[in-house]
Amino acid sequence: MIADELVCRELVELASDYLDRTLPPEARARVDAHLVDCPHCADYLAQMRRTVRLLGSLRTDSLSAEAKASLVRLFQRSRQ
Ligand SMILES: [Zn+2]
Repeated sequence: MIADELVCRELVELASDYLDRTLPPEARARVDAHLVDCPHCADYLAQMRRTVRLLGSLRTDSLSAEAKASLVRLFQRSRQ
């Protein structure tokens, strides 16, 4: 485990910028590294990406509240 490894909560915060490609390269690299090890976040981003494609635009503000809640539930379940 590397010292500056991204945690899932951070990824959720960065996800819309990541998809919007406004994330600085360093942060983007951390997200990419996290995704390799975290299927939950990979699913989360894939879902967001699909939704963006369906909507035809990036409207992740309304999405992310709901997606965040479902992600939090996922992690709570996986830690029980
Ligand atoms: Zn994660």
